[in-house]
Amino acid sequence: MDFKKYTDAIDREAEVILGASDKVWDAAETAFDEYKSMDALCEALEKEGFTVEKGIGKVPTAFSGRFGHGKPVVGLLGEYDGLSGLSQVSGCPVNNPVVPGGVGHGCGHNLLGAGALGAAIAVKEYLQDTGKEGTVVFYGCPGEEGGSGKAFMAREGVFDECDFCITWHPGATNSVSTGSSLANYQVLYKFDGLAAHAAGAPHLGRGALDAVTLMNVGIQFLREHVIPEARMHYAVTDTGGYSPNVVQPHAEVLYLLRAPETPQVQSIFERVNDIAQGAALMTGTKMSYDFIKACSNIILNDVLGEQLQKSLEKYEPPKLTPDEEKFLTELDKTIGPEQRTDGLKNSLKFLKGEEHDFVEKHVGELYHDFVVPYAYNGQASPGSSDVGDVSWVCPTAQISTATWMASTPGHSWQVVAQGKESVAHRATLYAAKVMADTCLEVMNNPEQLQAAKDEYKKRVPNGYKCPIPAGVKPRSLTKL
Ligand SMILES: [Zn+2]
Ligand SMILES: [Zn+2]
Repeated sequence: MDFKKYTDAIDREAEVILGASDKVWDAAETAFDEYKSMDALCEALEKEGFTVEKGIGKVPTAFSGRFGHGKPVVGLLGEYDGLSGLSQVSGCPVNNPVVPGGVGHGCGHNLLGAGALGAAIAVKEYLQDTGKEGTVVFYGCPGEEGGSGKAFMAREGVFDECDFCITWHPGATNSVSTGSSLANYQVLYKFDGLAAHAAGAPHLGRGALDAVTLMNVGIQFLREHVIPEARMHYAVTDTGGYSPNVVQPHAEVLYLLRAPETPQVQSIFERVNDIAQGAALMTGTKMSYDFIKACSNIILNDVLGEQLQKSLEKYEPPKLTPDEEKFLTELDKTIGPEQRTDGLKNSLKFLKGEEHDFVEKHVGELYHDFVVPYAYNGQASPGSSDVGDVSWVCPTAQISTATWMASTPGHSWQVVAQGKESVAHRATLYAAKVMADTCLEVMNNPEQLQAAKDEYKKRVPNGYKCPIPAGVKPRSLTKL
């Protein structure tokens, strides 16, 4: 069907949508501290006639914007958290932080929230115009980076009302996401010992930093004895101070454990606990841990994915203007050969024949202004996303559009430099139209919606079980 009449609203409201994106870029707040970003998006939602509720799912910076009534309930997922240490001046092709060491939108989540908002506006326009039954909900999902905001929200049943959810992620290609991601747990290990003069009476001390060191050594030996897809990362978040002549009485290390499925992460977690306990025994310290957060692997819905592909092909992806090309050519020079990436290489693994050859000839281009053919694979890539938890609750699918140049590394200042520029803006509006078109197609095709639900039930036969234990609350990264 032709829904252009409704997706046109995205161009009409571009100022509101992109204005919100730029405000979120400027605010640049990390996980669960996104108050200004939340306000920018909520203001836009209210202006567009949505009913806004803040603090949903017991997460202070989570919110919803709702329009319409009854079924189906369509969810659009928006994110808006930034990354520490990636501050960068917009449109500047050399590394130049706005605030040295400050927060920047190194994963493009300013665009992510605004694009989902744009899609919600078009669906609202349709509901308003036709008077049909149906509800569109924009879910403001905080703390994706290191926070798993959506998993906390899912634990409280926020997404239970949804018939299906659509989202996107800014990126280097116009494509439907077709893989999976890793489930993860993030756990803070704490060691308590006894302080002592490190030269005068070291025999009286019990070193907490020693315990952290021994735990980390233990984990290095564990690596060989877990499944190869597993990942175990750590950061020493408290060394016990900077005085080497003290036996450190307290130290902490933060672990991020990942594997393709939650039960695998759980079994690794139990072994990591044993190692931590062993380190405490070796050093005469006491170990305790804080479960910080977790997320599930993603199960992308193939029925919705196929529809998203059709929508991607229905609308025109952005093409570079000469000025944009000039800026990106300069920026591209800052990316060394060892850092160079191209998202197309992953797609190529799953494409065949003519489609493979078509995509292959674009590898190495400055910017990808075409739509990548669809090839569902379900294979886990080494990252994680809390979209996973939503995908265990209802049929969920995701796209990416080319908001940045092909060689852009993830979580880099180069992402920040492009996040408020015209290419990113146009690609965000394109993403909004594609998502809205798919929502409207599915809302108007009960058989397609049923097929998406049947697929979901087959793949998640026992429903969702949140990997975050009851009682664990979301915490700002700055207050761990
Ligand atoms: Zn990220
Ligand atoms: Zn991201």
